[in-house]
Amino acid sequence: MKCYRCGKPADTILSDSNLPVCKLCFSNYIERKVIKTIRHYKMLKYNDTIGIAYSGGKDSVVLLHILYKIEQSFPQSKVIVITIDEGIRGYREEALKVVRKNVDLLDVEWHLFSFKELYGHTLDEILSKAAELAMKNNKKRLSACTYCGILRRKALDYAAKELGVTKLAAGHNLDDETQTLLINLLKGDVDRIGRLMPIHDQTTRVLVPRIKPLRKVSEREVVLYAYYNGLEYQSRTCPYAAESIRSDVRLFLNEIEKKIPSVKHNLLHALDTLSPLLRKQQEKELKYCKHCGYPTSQDLCKSCILLSKLNLLDKQRINFFQKI
Ligand code: SF4
Ligand code: ZN
Ligand code: ZN
Repeated sequence: MKCYRCGKPADTILSDSNLPVCKLCFSNYIERKVIKTIRHYKMLKYNDTIGIAYSGGKDSVVLLHILYKIEQSFPQSKVIVITIDEGIRGYREEALKVVRKNVDLLDVEWHLFSFKELYGHTLDEILSKAAELAMKNNKKRLSACTYCGILRRKALDYAAKELGVTKLAAGHNLDDETQTLLINLLKGDVDRIGRLMPIHDQTTRVLVPRIKPLRKVSEREVVLYAYYNGLEYQSRTCPYAAESIRSDVRLFLNEIEKKIPSVKHNLLHALDTLSPLLRKQQEKELKYCKHCGYPTSQDLCKSCILLSKLNLLDKQRINFFQKI
């Protein structure tokens, strides 16, 4: 089989069109797809300082690689890398080695923040406190990903603001976006669906807009891109991943995809149609957390609620008040 673009031997098939392509044409195709996504949603400006949320996993590694390439044509823009160390023993240490290797290779500015430094406790410590309290009350503790997701989000927002970033880029791919949509539907969390946007505009004074340039690139394409370009990433999964229903939803969607090949693109289209409508309906007056100043619809933000329930709020260093 020959590459339909250059005639060299083909290495794979494009899933969108079933056309055969070689490694190089495949990589160019993915990069063009990302550029189109950025243009379509007006994600970037020529002089943005882009902070990449960089965990060392395949999505963030590919995102850095592609944005770094794009940024070379815009001398007034800048890419910096932000890593949040949640404090997951035996897992994050390995990822940090990969992160360090990749940032050294590209010679990009790298900033490391940790839960320990920002919240006074690692994720492992927070979870053991949560398990202890849950056992006392004869209940099940919340999943690790609930704590991790909420605290990491605020940590990234804080880091972006501290570093003077103008756009915060996350490596969510097509599979992540559609899984998140289904997970929120399964939980009945309609509010969250309204917030699943390709670009979070600057709706508050303290948050840096977030962008998701890989949202149209599938997980398979991310893996292939990394492989064809010799990119090193952490492939081990987090020890807490099994606590989330994401892996079940992932399997379910991959099964459905065998019958409806366009199912993920269909869901993304549904999300893009629904989320602006839901957002309009939810427009409430935004408040700021009484404890840390983070935007919220309640008196306290979600992360302060979680930590205060565990009596772990006193060591939090994050403070958005001075940014308002
Ligand atoms: Fe955090 Fe869950 Fe991801 Fe592990 S799998 S890094 S706990 S969100
Ligand atoms: Zn080719
Ligand atoms: Zn708060």
